[in-house]
Amino acid sequence: MENVVIIGSGPAGWTAAIYTARAGLNPLLVTGAQPGGLLTTTTAVENFPGFSKGVDANTLMMEMQEQAARFGARVEYMSVVERVDFSRRPLTLTVDGKVIETRAVIIATGASHRHLGVPGERELENKGVTYCATCDGALPMFRGQPLVVVGGGDSACEEAAYLTRFGSLVYLAHRRDQLRASRIMAARTLANPKIKPVWDSVVEGVLGVDLDRVTGVKLRNVKTGARATLDCAGVFVAIGHVPNTQLFQGVIDMDKAGFITPTGRAHTNVDGVFVAGDCADSIYRQAVTAAGAGCMAGIEAERYLAGLCG
Ligand code: NAP
Repeated sequence: MENVVIIGSGPAGWTAAIYTARAGLNPLLVTGAQPGGLLTTTTAVENFPGFSKGVDANTLMMEMQEQAARFGARVEYMSVVERVDFSRRPLTLTVDGKVIETRAVIIATGASHRHLGVPGERELENKGVTYCATCDGALPMFRGQPLVVVGGGDSACEEAAYLTRFGSLVYLAHRRDQLRASRIMAARTLANPKIKPVWDSVVEGVLGVDLDRVTGVKLRNVKTGARATLDCAGVFVAIGHVPNTQLFQGVIDMDKAGFITPTGRAHTNVDGVFVAGDCADSIYRQAVTAAGAGCMAGIEAERYLAGLCG
């Protein structure tokens, strides 16, 4: 029987692991299919306190993992939770076919990239459509080619800047005429001569299905209704995230968008099940807020178990 199982290996999961491990709870962390979480799909993290020169996202996550391991956290690598049963005690999770019994659970499953949901997107995924410039930007198919980034937030700006190293020109297609990104990111983006904003425009389709590679996008200007085609070799979708909470639907309370709604201080509606990070945060979604929430969930789990066991 486990004391506490942590689901997810982003900043929230590892921080919960550090705290519960230091509390002597010998936690088990199930990484999910993407160890390190969504943060590892970015490059430099410039706003995590304590790193005056910024820190590489993968390095940051590896450091968190080593810190947790130092205090005795155990890890199920690349493992995915398939089912949970929170209706009785002990709580159970099915991980890669194996049933794990536990007294407490911390859900830190984070969020995934939102898709456009337009024709051609799914068919051309990994054939020019991608959700991660850091992962795919350097591929030969994008070098010296015009590229399109979709979105107007910090992620879109970051992706566009990164892609200027490889593409001939980077179009930033945004559905409004103003970026949502933070002021510093927006200013950098608009000052970059290799980034060309395409305002008030939504992508209606990705072209090239017949050739099995991206050849362009179909755009519609939302103000004028005018339609246009933009030739490109890559479409980098950066339009936000959806919480990874499908596993808990009907069991754990969540809002309409699927974000878990804590009942207060990291607790959920199920006794002994706690939550931390982006799967419960539709507002801040920062590595540092996720880490802070992981700390809270870890401490709450510790208090819960102290009451339960004592
Ligand atoms: P975001 O801030 O939610 O921005 C999503 C963007 O996509 C918005 O511009 C939105 O348009 C657009 N969008 C959403 N749905 C769309 C659709 N169906 N079609 C077309 N456009 C759509 O997401 P994010 O940029 O991924 O950032 C998430 C959080 O992480 C933010 O808090 C951000 O500050 C943070 N972040 C920080 C850094 C950094 O500091 N280095 C880097 C990346 C992310 P509207 O503007 O019209 O809503």
